[in-house]
Amino acid sequence: MRIPLIVGNWKMNLTTKEAASLVEKLKSRFSNIEGVEVAVCPPFTSLETVSKLCKESSIHVGAQNMFWEEQGAYTGEISPLMLKDLGCKYVILGHSERRQFFGETNENVSRKVKSALKHNIIPIICVGETLAQREAGETDRVCREQLQESLKGIDNLEGNEIVVAYEPVWAIGTGKTASPKDADHVANFIRLILANMYSAKTAERVRILYGGSVKPENIVEFMAQPNIDGALVGGASLKADSFGEIVHLCLV
Ligand code: PEP
Repeated sequence: MRIPLIVGNWKMNLTTKEAASLVEKLKSRFSNIEGVEVAVCPPFTSLETVSKLCKESSIHVGAQNMFWEEQGAYTGEISPLMLKDLGCKYVILGHSERRQFFGETNENVSRKVKSALKHNIIPIICVGETLAQREAGETDRVCREQLQESLKGIDNLEGNEIVVAYEPVWAIGTGKTASPKDADHVANFIRLILANMYSAKTAERVRILYGGSVKPENIVEFMAQPNIDGALVGGASLKADSFGEIVHLCLV
């Protein structure tokens, strides 16, 4: 039984004060929530504040990125030890914005995934095709390559948890979404790849999220798909009302 997971990716938004105010509102909306897991991924600057505020609440905290090394001369980077220290349960890895604007490669992602698992941080591995790739019929190939290469060198996932987020690049922040059926097709395909790489049992327990312009108006249809176990939410996670509604609609 996979518990639905809704993750808010705040991206490069909100000052620490604004982040604290949003999380306070979310806490009151999610007190005693059961049957769905909620996580928020603030910018590094407000991780500590948000993490402290979320202690003893039902909201988990994640980071939006990390470097693979534990410490050293890597100016501007944040290590898994630092995230662990701040109480991060999750880290988003390989988001398309990291790939597009910061040159992140599958090889980088694979090093980060290994490091996250070593430090007991659950990686949320993002895969997804661009519009040109979709139009060329390459969606499955792109997602397969990204996933296989991100998990390269990880021989088994026994005792380790990963989450995969299918995020069509053309649907992120655009208001466009994949159709729930198309998203479920890719989620099912991702599960088959995991079954092939590891085992059917492992594939069955991995949570696969959809991401790309998720909002209260469309979450129910995505959640109704058999292979979609939750959502990675960008824009709509920045407002307590819309994020709160998305989470509550998952319980319907
Ligand atoms: C994201 O940042 O992962 C995302 C899906 O953004 P949005 O919900 O704004 O499309």
